[in-house]
Amino acid sequence: MKICVLPGDGIGPEIVAEAVRVLQAMDLNIEMEEALLGGCAVDATGDPYPDATQKLAQAADAVLLGAVGGPQWDGNPREQRPERGLLGIRKQLGLFANLRPAILYPELANASTLKPEVVAGLDILIVRELTGDIYFGQPRGIEMRNGERFGLNTMHYTESEIRRILRVAFAAARKRSRKVCSVDKMNVLECTQLWRDVAIETGREYPDVELSHMLVDNAAMQLVKNPRQFDVMVTGNMFGDILSDEASMLTGSIGMLPSASLDANNKGLYEPCHGSAPDIAGKGVANPLATILSAAMMLRYTFADEDAARRIESAVKKVLAQGFRTGDIFEPGMKKVGTRQMGDAVLAAL
Ligand code: NAD
Repeated sequence: MKICVLPGDGIGPEIVAEAVRVLQAMDLNIEMEEALLGGCAVDATGDPYPDATQKLAQAADAVLLGAVGGPQWDGNPREQRPERGLLGIRKQLGLFANLRPAILYPELANASTLKPEVVAGLDILIVRELTGDIYFGQPRGIEMRNGERFGLNTMHYTESEIRRILRVAFAAARKRSRKVCSVDKMNVLECTQLWRDVAIETGREYPDVELSHMLVDNAAMQLVKNPRQFDVMVTGNMFGDILSDEASMLTGSIGMLPSASLDANNKGLYEPCHGSAPDIAGKGVANPLATILSAAMMLRYTFADEDAARRIESAVKKVLAQGFRTGDIFEPGMKKVGTRQMGDAVLAAL
C-alpha cells in the first residue's frame, strides 16, 4: 500500500502526524511518503501543487491530506493560492465521489444543537457527485442581455456520470445498513428526472439494497426532523454540497468529521472536513480524530480492509468513552488533552 502524505498548512502537520502514527501501528504493509501541497508548497516552490507532489500523488494508491490555507496566502495571485493546489489534485486524480459520514458518538451528544433524542446514535453517509452538475456546466457567466445583466449556469449530467456515483452509494450501503436514499428535484428539473430514472435502473443491480427517493427540499427538512431514518444518501454536486454540510453539523463537532474522495478504481484522497485552523496552529491543541478517522476510511475504501478500519474506529470510540477530549469537544468533568496526547490515547486503545 503506497500512501502519499500531504500534511499541508496550519494544523495540518500536527494532525497528520497522529494519523501517520496510527497507520504505522496497524501492522499493515504500508509505505508512506510526504510531499508539499498548499501554502507550504507555494513558499518552497512558487506552486501550490508542485510537479514532485503530482508525481507522488499519481503513483500512490491513496493520499492522506491535512488541510491547506491560511491568511498569509490570502493576498496571493489566484494561481498561487493554497486552494488552487487542492482543486488541482482533486481534478488531476479524477475524484468524482465524495463520501462524508456524519456520526454522532453518544459521548458527544451534547455538542449537537439538536435534542439528544433526535440525534443520538446518528450514523449517515452522504455520497456526493463531485465533478459534474451546475458547478461545471457550460455555458456559464454573466453577460448583458436586453440592456441588463444576465446570469447563467447550466445543470447537466450524463447517464454514465449518474450511474457511477449511484454504484458507489450502493456499494457503500452494502458495507452498512443496505439502504440508499437518492435525492433529486425531479418535479422541477429534467436533469434530475434523468437522475431518478438512472437511480431506479441502477438499483436493479443491487436487489439486496433498499432504494428510496426524496426531493431535495424535503431531504433538507428530514435531516433536521428525523435524521436517523437515513443510512446512505446519494445526490448531485450542488445538492450534495449543501446537504453534506447540513448533515455534518448535526454532529456539532467539526474536529471529528472525516471524508473520502474516490476515483473509478477506489483510489482516494482522504482528509478531515475542517480547514487548517490558523487560529490554533502550532499550539498542539488541534483535534486529530477527524484525520485519524479519515485514515480508517482509507483502509475501508481504497484498501478494502474493513477489519483494520473498524479497529481504528473502535479505538476512537474507546478514547471518547474514556473521557479524553481536545479543546473543541471538551466538557467539564472530562480529561482535556492536546493533539499528541489524543494520538497517544488512540494508540493505547488500539
Ligand atoms: P477551519 O475549519 O480551519 O476552522 C474553523 C474553526 O474550527 C476554527 O475556530 C478552528 O480553530 C476550529 N477547528 C477546525 N479544525 C479543528 C480541529 N481539528 N481541532 C480543533 N478545532 C478545529 O475553517 P476556517 O477558519 O474557515 O478556514 C481556515 C483556513 O482553512 C482558510 O485558509 C481556509 O481557506 C482553509 N480551509 C481549508 C480546507 C481544506 O484544506 N480542505 C477546508 C476549509 C477551509
